[in-house]
Amino acid sequence: MFQAQGSNVKYGSNICSAYLNSLGDYILITHKEPWELIEKDVTNQPKFVVGAKELSKKYLDDLANEVPGVHVVGLGGGSAMDTAKWVHWRRQLPLTLIPSIPSVDACFTRMSALREQGGVIYDGDAVPDLVLVDFDLFRAAPESMVTSGIGDVLACHTAWFDWKYAHEKNKDEFGWTSESPEISLQYLAELAECAPGVKAQTDDGLRRLMELHRDIGWRCHEMKHARFEEGSEHFFAYTFEEVTGRTIAHGELVSLGVLVMSKFQGNNFDGAKDIIEKAGTRHRLSDLGISSKEFLDSVRRTQSFSIEQKLWFSYAQTIDFSEISDEAILESVNW
Ligand SMILES: [Zn+2]
Repeated sequence: MFQAQGSNVKYGSNICSAYLNSLGDYILITHKEPWELIEKDVTNQPKFVVGAKELSKKYLDDLANEVPGVHVVGLGGGSAMDTAKWVHWRRQLPLTLIPSIPSVDACFTRMSALREQGGVIYDGDAVPDLVLVDFDLFRAAPESMVTSGIGDVLACHTAWFDWKYAHEKNKDEFGWTSESPEISLQYLAELAECAPGVKAQTDDGLRRLMELHRDIGWRCHEMKHARFEEGSEHFFAYTFEEVTGRTIAHGELVSLGVLVMSKFQGNNFDGAKDIIEKAGTRHRLSDLGISSKEFLDSVRRTQSFSIEQKLWFSYAQTIDFSEISDEAILESVNW
């Protein structure tokens, strides 16, 4: 049985409004959709509602200086979590995080992902009093926003393999040992088991997925790096954003990265495919609104982009996709 460590967390169904009603004074940092869903049941209304939008340091610092000094509640997706974490940390105010989708692990990581000069930087150190996970909020979100939630866990599939490869090539900066794969493999085994429950959106499946995110967030802080969960698949995702000038749901983009990279790493492609299938995560380019050209251009740019950006040494830096046929690349995702 998988046992997670990390932030103080509470799970349940339809627990969000009762929690806010008993909280005292608070400000709410949120998006329109989840707030509209529960607003009518919240008798203890927030002192101040902030719509999460920008993630530049300047904007967030100005916001932190403006808000009243009361409990901070973040309700929503990644940008609401990151904004609330920043305001809490800058002002040293109590914090509750209520994710409305299980898409990323932002509610369980201590740093905020800020957008500066077109790139992402990580800063801050948030420790929430509580992460409240309300399964009914997840079930009210579009299905693909739930099934994409596996992406940052599935990333371990390609990431640990890259880490091993870096070690074999004497390019590891993070102290690989023969025990290093164990934790990633344990996450993947648990993910494979809970994937049908994620697809069916059962309490058990959703709780187990969030427990994986919780443990990964905790481990990133403990280890002071994310090498076990970030490799070629994320480097493909960053390249896609550069090539196309846009993005799609992070978990779906990373899942595409896991598929294409695991196939050409020679790393149990069928295992990755099996988890994606069981979780019902979208992976066909037509379902994701990505053209074949955008995908092929991104895959073929990953090698040079990873080298230019000095990303961690991984298969992404050594696979020359210009040597590989369009069909072979497209087959990895269009099944
Ligand atoms: Zn990620």
